[in-house]
Parts: sequence; C-alpha cells; structure tokens
Amino acid sequence: MELASLTSSLLTRFGVATDRFDHGDIAVHSPIDGSLIGHVASTSRPAAEAALATAHEAFEAWRIVPAPRRGELVRRFGNLLREYKTDLGTLVTIETGKIRQEGLGEVQEMIDICDYACGLSRQLHGLTIASERPGHRMMEQWHPAGVVGVVSAFNFPVAVWAWNATLAWVCGDSVVWKPSERTPLSAIACAALFERACRGLGEAPNGLLGLLTGGRAHAELLADDRRVAVFSATGSCAMGRALAPRVAARLGRSILELGGNNAAIVCPSADLALAERAILFAAAGTAGQRCTTLRRLIVHESIADALIERLRAAWRRIPVGNPLDATSLVGPLIAPAAGEAMAAALSEAAAAGATLFGGDPVTVHGCEGGCYRRPALVEMPAQTDLVRRETFAPILYVLRYSSFDEAIALHNDVPQGLASSVFTQDLGEAERFLSAAGSDCGIANVNIGPSGAEIGGAFGGEKDTGGGRESGSDAWKGYMRRATCTINYSGALPLAQGIRFGL
Ligand code: NAD
Repeated sequence: MELASLTSSLLTRFGVATDRFDHGDIAVHSPIDGSLIGHVASTSRPAAEAALATAHEAFEAWRIVPAPRRGELVRRFGNLLREYKTDLGTLVTIETGKIRQEGLGEVQEMIDICDYACGLSRQLHGLTIASERPGHRMMEQWHPAGVVGVVSAFNFPVAVWAWNATLAWVCGDSVVWKPSERTPLSAIACAALFERACRGLGEAPNGLLGLLTGGRAHAELLADDRRVAVFSATGSCAMGRALAPRVAARLGRSILELGGNNAAIVCPSADLALAERAILFAAAGTAGQRCTTLRRLIVHESIADALIERLRAAWRRIPVGNPLDATSLVGPLIAPAAGEAMAAALSEAAAAGATLFGGDPVTVHGCEGGCYRRPALVEMPAQTDLVRRETFAPILYVLRYSSFDEAIALHNDVPQGLASSVFTQDLGEAERFLSAAGSDCGIANVNIGPSGAEIGGAFGGEKDTGGGRESGSDAWKGYMRRATCTINYSGALPLAQGIRFGL
C-alpha cells in the first residue's frame, strides 16, 4: 500500500478525520520514500492564543482534583496506548523512518511512563523538617506549577512528549505541545487518543492538552508566554540557545534536553563480543538519530585493531532498508539535508587524515526517494572540532588512548554531556568512570552502550545538553512548585535565629 493511504487509514483508526490533511501549509513527507503523506495547517495565532487560555483555565480546575484521580486519567491513556500500540508505532515509523521494532519500542516507552506516572500520583510527597523553634512544625508541599509548554524533536516524536505530559498531568498541570514540524501526524494521533481518555472522566476539564502545529514561531510563542510556568524543550543545542534566553528574559523555568555527543571507552579487559553488540545498537540504531547515539569510541591502543576489525565485519552486515521490513536494522535519515550533512562530515574527516569505512549512499528498491546511508566507522587521528560537534547521522568516530586518565580527558573534552559508557572488567576503572572525576555526563553506564535509557531513571545531560531532567527518579519535581510551610502551635512567637523584636 502507498504510504499516503496507509497513513490515512491509520489516522482513521485513531478517529481523526483525514480530509483535514488535504491542504495546509506544512507538507509532511515520509523519509521512507520521500513521498507526501499529508498536509497539516499551522495553528493560527488566535487559535494558539485560545489554546493557551483554555490550558490555563484547565490548570486552575485540574490542580484541585486529587492527584490519584489525575493518575486515573493517565492510566486510561496508557490503556489506550496498549490498544493502539501497533498503529501508533507504525505511524511513528512512517513519519520518522525508524524501524518497526523501534517505532513499537517508542510506544512501549509511553506505556511505561503512563504506569510510572500513575503510581507517582500517590507519591508526590514532601519532607517534614525539624524546626529550631519550640512548638513549630516545618514541611514541604509540592503544588501544581501551571501550564507546561512542550517543544519536541522529530526523532522521538511521541515518547519524549509523553515523558513530559504524563508527569505534568499527574502533577496537576495542563500541557500545550508544539511537536516537530516533521512529525505532526503522530502528535495529532496522540491528541486524539488523549481526548478519548478524558471522555468519561468527569473531573478532566477541557484543555488539558493543547496542540500547536507549526514551526519556530510556535515554539517562540510558548517560550515567551508568562502563562507557561514550565517550558520543556527537546532538540538541538542551537534550538536551546535560541529559546532559553527568551524564557530567561521573563524569569521562567526551563527544562532543556538538547544535543549529545556520546562516547564509550573500551578498556583492555573489556568483553569484546559484548562491547561489539552494544556498540552496534548504540551507533547504528535509529540510523544514528538518537540524542544518545554513540558517536565517539575511545579504545585502548592494545585492543583497537582487534575491535575495529570486529566492528568492520559487523558494519558490513548491517541490513539497511525500508524500516517497515522486519529484516531492516537501519532505515533512512530524516531528510536529504541530513544525508548532505553526513557526507560533508565524512569529507571533513577525510581531509583531517581519517580512515573511513562505510558511509556510502544505499539505494533501496521501492524507496528511491528516501535518503539511506550505510553507517560509517571513522578512525580519527585526533579529537578535532568535527568530532566535538554532533552530526545527527550514523557516524562513529574512533580514537585511541594509552592511559585511562587520557581516555577520561578525551571523553569529557566535548561541549555536550548527555550519555556515556565504559566497557571494562576492572572494578577500579568502572568506579573511576562513575566517580566525581570521571564521566561528566547526566547518564553514565558500565558494560552497556549509552543509548536506550529506561524510564525509571532521570534522563538528561549537562553542559550544552542543557541540564534538564525528565522521566523517572525525582524529575517530577520540575513540573511542580515547592512551598515551605511553617506551622506554629506553641501559643508563643519565638523568632528564628533567636532574634528579639518587640515593643
Ligand atoms: P531541532 O532543534 O531542529 O527541532 C526541535 C524542535 O525545536 C522542533 O519542534 C523545532 O520546530 C523547534 N526549533 C528548532 N529550532 C528552533 C528555533 N531556533 N527557534 C524555535 N524553535 C526551534 O531538532 P531535531 O532535528 O528535531 O532533533 C534532533 C536534535 O534533538 C538533536 O540535536 C538531538 O540530539 C536532539 N534531541 C535531544 C534529546 C534529549 O533528550 N537530550 C532527545 C531527542 C533529540
């Protein structure tokens, strides 16, 4: 079936009227074969204004609904995602080009975060704190923050939004979402499912989710609006640099999840067979288009030749093809511009004296309009500026090291700080990597690759990656406001710090 008709029939299953996709200023193309799969109209300025106003009203009603009831809404949403997992996963594959397994995995991640958020809705707990004053009690309360503005990237078009939205909803917030202009259809499908989840739950006000389709101007609108209490943006460092100052100018709160430049150190004691499998998934999975993709391999000189040989053999066998085919492991890049950026990076590497393997264009039968590239292995003579930049494509730069100190220095000598890993059987090396003087990233792993995080942990990174945390652990606190409360039951009025102040 043509991708346009497949997309249309999938959207119908979500209850979305598909005639609305006949025209609109955003032309949506599938990276699978470059074909047009629909048009989406950008949200008009008055409609965006109305969405923000409705979201703010929804917040005012939702914040007083007991948190476990808010969790019930997210549980319903999770159940619908279970029901529509295959359809939504397929739509994600059509819009992003990620392989079926990864499209389904993305929806599974949404289901997981729904379960997590539902449990969390009974655990939004604060501390009690010992007061220095007799007959006083101190405590922390966590209250809903307001409207959460979510800007999302093309490569995780639905899961990253769900990390934000499900936590926001159980925390008592409403959400206004500006998805990537490359993936608005998956967003429209999610909004339809969420609307269905709201039906039948009396406490759910209209406006818990507003959808702004469009480009940069729509993201700026969220960044600038004072009603957006939490601005959560996922995308490139350039996007963060453009939007963070706008939020800061109104002294707003941002959660930034920006680019990565993730490395793995492979030590002499590493289990090379295990490392090889982990490197393959981390570097080539999602065609190198994950924020946590492995981009730099820092290998001890004593094992470098052996490991590179193994990787070359694996790289040769990677099936590049139509992501809807079960046999493909690597699908297309999102757009021809991404292929051009990859080719430019490989030429720059060659000019710097690199040894190149792979990276060539692949013609996939029936998908001639797609941009398919064989993943590249690039042995670099040094960590140049090229290696320090994130090129959002399947390029793995290989560097050699002689001492572990040198490996850690190379590892940290990039602007980004998202995900990292070390492959070693040496406990001392593993602990040093995880220590305060080791990896400077938000995610640090031992004997697994940097990509493929679980939702239970806080997700995010340091330095140019933006410092935000989403998903598990105590990331929920980013979607609430804290009130420190002191109650005096003494009948007297002792002042803190022993201050005497009276007439
Ligand atoms: P992108 O920065 O081009 O776009 C992301 C979103 O920001 C889109 O919705 C886009 O419309 C908006 N946007 C982009 N530039 C903007 C600007 N100047 N002003 C206002 N809005 C702007 O990113 P992408 O190509 O969609 O996604 C790939 C990038 O996202 C990579 O750098 C990747 O590492 C990063 N990413 C990070 C994470 C994370 O959790 N750290 C997760 C996924 C992707």
